[in-house]
Amino acid sequence: MAPVHSHSDPARDALAATPTENLVPAAGVGSVAQESLADTTGPSTPKKRGVPEGLWLKCPGCAASVYRKEVASRLNVCPKCDYHFYVSAAERIAQVLDDGTFESMNEHLMPSDPLQFADRRPYAQRLVSEQKRTGLTDAVLTGTGMIRARRVAFAVTDSAFIMGSMGSVVGERLARLIEHATLQNLPLIIISGSGGGARMHEGILSLMQMAKVSAALSRYAAAGGLYISVLTNPTMGGVAASFASLGDLVFAEPKALIGFAGPRTIKATIGIELPEGFQTSEFLLEHGYIDRIVTRQNLKSEIARAIDYCGK
Ligand SMILES: [Zn+2]
Repeated sequence: MAPVHSHSDPARDALAATPTENLVPAAGVGSVAQESLADTTGPSTPKKRGVPEGLWLKCPGCAASVYRKEVASRLNVCPKCDYHFYVSAAERIAQVLDDGTFESMNEHLMPSDPLQFADRRPYAQRLVSEQKRTGLTDAVLTGTGMIRARRVAFAVTDSAFIMGSMGSVVGERLARLIEHATLQNLPLIIISGSGGGARMHEGILSLMQMAKVSAALSRYAAAGGLYISVLTNPTMGGVAASFASLGDLVFAEPKALIGFAGPRTIKATIGIELPEGFQTSEFLLEHGYIDRIVTRQNLKSEIARAIDYCGK
């Protein structure tokens, strides 16, 4: 088995400097939370993305009015055109893992604000309001669970939390999960959804996560692990440019936006028309960047099949 970093490695601890365990004092969090409560607008009930409240909703894929309950009963997929609506990390766990088998790991790693960053609002405040809105502590959940009775290491990012971007906590949770999968010889499943890539609010500390997670994946691969990466809409930036693209098998949901920079940026940079369907799952399958397009209804079965096929 390949050497695996122990959690007490000093170099590694320096790299993981930001997700200081329990660094953010509870009192500090509470006081920011009160401030952020005051500046939230609209109703107090958390707004669900993807499938808005109400009996009917308009599908962004086909513009049809579809019955919300029917969409929900089809794992948030449009019954008319198979448009894949957003699903939260928690919903994804319910869809992919066997009931009640998910055991979360490293949720005690809490994000902090090492750069005292502020854009339209201070990052520290943004973190607290994102946590309240999504019920997550950061943009990824990691842990172990079962997929049709096969034990796996599992992670899912949630594009609702600061666009699913990877800061220090996302990177560290993923790295620890990958190391756990290496030690326990578990298949690794990471479901990615990130419009944000590397989280700019943590600057270079976010960028370092790309290297750290990729290095952990390299050791996992050397130890003979099976990594299935599942790309969902959207998977962009530093997430696409690191762990999401490194799967032994790369699955993608239909019509997901997958790429590094957005199409407008690329067009402005290189000054030519981009091909039709550029940066969609279908285009990327045709060009060999992903291995298979898997609908949400088939995802669980396809992952189980791949694990069996690879003898894991
Ligand atoms: Zn539709």
